[in-house]
Amino acid sequence: MSRVRHAGTDIEIEVKRALDVRGFSYKMSDKTLPGSPDFSNEEERWTIFVHGCFWHKHADCAHGAIPKSNTDYWSEKLAANVRRDASALRSLRRAGFATAVLWECEVKDDVRLEAKVSNFQKRLALRSR
Ligand SMILES: [Zn+2]
Repeated sequence: MSRVRHAGTDIEIEVKRALDVRGFSYKMSDKTLPGSPDFSNEEERWTIFVHGCFWHKHADCAHGAIPKSNTDYWSEKLAANVRRDASALRSLRRAGFATAVLWECEVKDDVRLEAKVSNFQKRLALRSR
């Protein structure tokens, strides 16, 4: 994987905290699952990806824009990341996983992070009934 791990470290810790508070149990970066999700539980069939807005090209986000210099290089490189992300999510959903993507800009906002994690937990609870 060509993901830049150090860029995601801080936001992963934020997400880890939010999941721990809510009692999630998970593995981090499970390489046996498509796209090595940042957080996952194979038995409970869910995955969470934590995406940097720049590297994963967050749509409609100020941090998801293509740089003005070396535009071709970046367009191609970032588009490849997006394709890889989409293909991992497709494989996971096909295998029955509930998936969530948490964006860097959401994770940095406590209210949005809390809302997303809590909605995901509700989704999982409804599914397992
Ligand atoms: Zn963003």
